[in-house]
Amino acid sequence: MKGAILPGIGKELEVVDDLEVSEPRSGEVKVRIHTTGVCHSDLSVQNGTIIVPLPAVLGHEASGVIEAVGPGVTSVQPGDHVILSFVPECGKCWFCVRGMPNLCEVATTGIVRGGLYDGQSPFSRKGERINQMTECGTFAQYTVVPEGGVVKIPDDVPLEDAALLGCGVTTGVGAVLNTAKVEEGASVAVIGTGGVGLNVIQGSVIAGAAKIIAIDLLDNKLEMAKQFGATDVVNASKQEPVSAVKQMTEGRGADYSFEVIGLPSTQEQAFRMVRRGGCAVLVGVPKMTDMFQIQAFLPVFEEKTIKGCWYGSARPHLDMPKLLDLYKAGRLKLRELISKEFELDQINDAFAALEKGEVARGVIRMPES
Ligand SMILES: [Zn+2]
Ligand SMILES: [Zn+2]
Repeated sequence: MKGAILPGIGKELEVVDDLEVSEPRSGEVKVRIHTTGVCHSDLSVQNGTIIVPLPAVLGHEASGVIEAVGPGVTSVQPGDHVILSFVPECGKCWFCVRGMPNLCEVATTGIVRGGLYDGQSPFSRKGERINQMTECGTFAQYTVVPEGGVVKIPDDVPLEDAALLGCGVTTGVGAVLNTAKVEEGASVAVIGTGGVGLNVIQGSVIAGAAKIIAIDLLDNKLEMAKQFGATDVVNASKQEPVSAVKQMTEGRGADYSFEVIGLPSTQEQAFRMVRRGGCAVLVGVPKMTDMFQIQAFLPVFEEKTIKGCWYGSARPHLDMPKLLDLYKAGRLKLRELISKEFELDQINDAFAALEKGEVARGVIRMPES
């Protein structure tokens, strides 16, 4: 089958037509990928910020159709439309039984090893193992994932729109509704208005936030932020963002801030721009070796909190259907997030467009043959 392989850090992706995928084993399903988004985390694997064993098939935000199921699979059958989850839930570990499947330790063990729950990758080429990003590996015509890594959706939802729920939408909206639990009338500042940041903005609209301040370096992205519900914008190349946010919030600072880039400097800004008693939510994925600094006195004296956010603190099997209901009701934009469609052969162009900030989301429509 066709697929794109990242051979090593800093290399271009290689599109091949002789990638092999194994058949689903017990508790696994085979999915024909319909549409896959290209997310900043894919770019972060390519540039070495996020560590995935290489060579690997990247891609972790996708929709598809169940092609085959392994023994013991009961929740889906061939022909079902699904969204892939980049943290499959085993349903049995300490975190899953306590309602925190985004932290599933069985899934995490597999993810770190570049394969499925037991570390085996379903992908190979010329007899050699090709690793799989986050138990997804959606830059291929087919993949094999755990049963808990697919969420069944109704047939009447367009698969191109549903794909974005796999990462960006669930992470961004979830950061607001699940992680921060933003309440009506709140003020929110969002640093970074790419594919995930725009979803923090539309999540804030759903939550009823009164003031939504979008911060970015590019005017074209800030324009888009307004279309998704930002009430105020700050171009941080022209204005110091912490003082700008304080000015917009009567000198106090925002109730909530969301850092959606993954840089220590902007994480520090996110902490500084919330009011006393406010909460800074860290969504962007930094380098594993990065450190940020805050005055040790401040979390105590100002009673501020910092919350980490992994996959929007989501329970994908509950949250994705809920998000699709909001989409059907016209309260969640999905199609509007897609700036450009690419062919699989143009995958390096899709990465370049994302890096330059030209697209909110570029998606790849996977070839059927
Ligand atoms: Zn992602
Ligand atoms: Zn689990």
